[in-house]
Amino acid sequence: MYYNNETLIYLNGKFVKASETSTDLYSQTLHYGYGVFEGIRAYATANGTSVFKSRQHYQRLKNSAELINIPFNFDVDQLVEATYELLERNNLSDAYVRPLVFCDPNMSLSRPNNVSIMICAWEWGAYLGDKQLRLKVSSYCRPHSKSVKIEAKVCGHYVNSILATNEAKDHGFDEALLLDSDGFIAEGPGANLFFEKGGVLFTPQLGNILPGITRATVLEMAAKFGVEVKQGQFQLEELQSADSAFYCGTAAEIIGIESVDDYKFPLDWSDSIGKKLQNEYSELVRKSEKVLTTTH
Ligand code: PMP
Repeated sequence: MYYNNETLIYLNGKFVKASETSTDLYSQTLHYGYGVFEGIRAYATANGTSVFKSRQHYQRLKNSAELINIPFNFDVDQLVEATYELLERNNLSDAYVRPLVFCDPNMSLSRPNNVSIMICAWEWGAYLGDKQLRLKVSSYCRPHSKSVKIEAKVCGHYVNSILATNEAKDHGFDEALLLDSDGFIAEGPGANLFFEKGGVLFTPQLGNILPGITRATVLEMAAKFGVEVKQGQFQLEELQSADSAFYCGTAAEIIGIESVDDYKFPLDWSDSIGKKLQNEYSELVRKSEKVLTTTH
C-alpha cells in the first residue's frame, strides 16, 4: 500500500529502494518511541509539484528534535530539496510526505549519539474523508505539558492519539476530541480544532496542543477575511453551544464537524466560516510555492 518494489525513499542523503532498506531492531526509537516526525502534503499545481509550507514543516521537525535532545544535524533547505527530488523520482505529485528522525541502537535511556533521517511519500486521500465528522469526547486526555514536550511531534505521543481514535471508532464515532488534563478543549488525535459562534472563531491557545501548521494557515486566512479569532482555554460547554466547528491538519486539511457526542451543530456547514476557509485552503495549497526546475 505504501510502497512497491520500485519505490524510493530518502535515507541519510541517499535515495534507496524502500524494499531494500531495513530498520535496526535495537533502535531506541522502536523501543521507546523516542523519535520525531512530520506529516507534509504535496499538491499538483499548474506549475508543477508544490510542497505546502515545506520549510515550516522541516523547521518544526528540527525544533521537535531539539526539544527532546535528539541531535539534528540536517539542513532544512537540503531536506526541502530532497523532498522535491523524492517526489519527482517516484513520479508523485499529489502526495503525503513523511520524514522521520530515528535513533541508533541504544537500550539505555540516555540521549543518542547518532540518528538517521528518512523521508518517504505515497498517495493518500483526505485523511478523515470528506464527510462531516461525528466526534466523541475522549476518555483519554492529551499528555500533560509537564510530562512531555507537547509542542514537539514525537513518535511516542501518538500512542495517546491511537488510543483516542480507536475508542471513538469502537463507539461508532468518526473521530475523537481530546481535552487537556485540566479539562479544557485541546485537539483531535491528529488535527487542531476551531469553532464558530456568532460570527467569531474560537480555538484552543498554544500550550497543551501541537502548534499546527494548518492552524497557523487558518489564522492567516481568517485575518485576510476579517474574521475575528479568539484563542484561549475553552470548556466543552462552550463548544457544545457553538454554531459550527471544524478540524484542521495537514492530512485532514479542513473538515467540518457535524456533532460532538450528542450535540449537533445547528449551522449548515455550507453557511459556515469553516466552509469558506475550506475552499480558500483548497485553493491556497494548489498555488505553486516552488517550481521544479532541476532535472535529476
Ligand atoms: N495536532 C496533532 C496531535 C497532530 O498530530 C497534527 C498533525 N500534525 C495536528 C494537530 C495538525 O498539525 P498540522 O496542521 O501541522 O498538520
